[in-house]
Amino acid sequence: MKEILQGKVKTVYDTEDAENVLIEFHDKVTAGNGRKVDFPEGKGEVCCQISSILFEKIAKVGVKTHYLGVDGNKMSCKRVDIVPIEVVCRNLAAGSIVRETPFEEGISFHPPLVEFYLKDDAKNDPLLTLDRVRLMKYNPYDYIGITQLINVTLKSIFDEMDIDLVDFKLEFGHTSSGDLVVADELSPDSMRLWKKGTKESFDKDLFRKEKGDIVRAYKYILQQLKEFS
Ligand code: UDP
Repeated sequence: MKEILQGKVKTVYDTEDAENVLIEFHDKVTAGNGRKVDFPEGKGEVCCQISSILFEKIAKVGVKTHYLGVDGNKMSCKRVDIVPIEVVCRNLAAGSIVRETPFEEGISFHPPLVEFYLKDDAKNDPLLTLDRVRLMKYNPYDYIGITQLINVTLKSIFDEMDIDLVDFKLEFGHTSSGDLVVADELSPDSMRLWKKGTKESFDKDLFRKEKGDIVRAYKYILQQLKEFS
């Protein structure tokens, strides 16, 4: 298979169908813009499986995604041109917003915040303003409504599992026919999940802060998603 793109923890391959790609999720985790790395066994598959369930869930409420199917740690997807903007939605304060603003960890945002970051590791993914997004020739309102719908959908799924959806990051892409779709992954690598009413993490913060076994936590989330489906 011809490699198209090698990401930090995933590789994208060409397929026989020029419209589609195959994304392989590796047993690898990184943090701090790639400075901290580990290779936990089973991590690729569990992220891929969680993503596939969540892509199916959001498709059911009418969100267009790149997702086509899954097999183990490989996901078949529509080929897209990725929008170089990461869209972050926050229900509770954690991570960069706590480090960079006066908001204390755990406070809730009503309505949830939707923020834009430049997808550029060399520049450390800086926060963008709406005007900067517009200057980049993207319309922020193309993304805000979809992000809010995804938030409501995912939040209600995790609520049932007694988990707070603290925040999550989305990536978007354009298909060859010009459709705007949600791309990349939807897994605890790109979202924060806390046991309800606590700050116990079931996400990548376990690795960032060296507080536990991410594969065990991610497998718990996968098992709960299957149970509540
Ligand atoms: N996130 C991500 N990729 C990034 C930056 C953030 O998936 O390059 C996710 C992160 O896991 C969290 C949310 O987006 O769920 C908000 O991240 P934040 O801005 O708080 O940054 P962090 O504290 O992770 O550096």
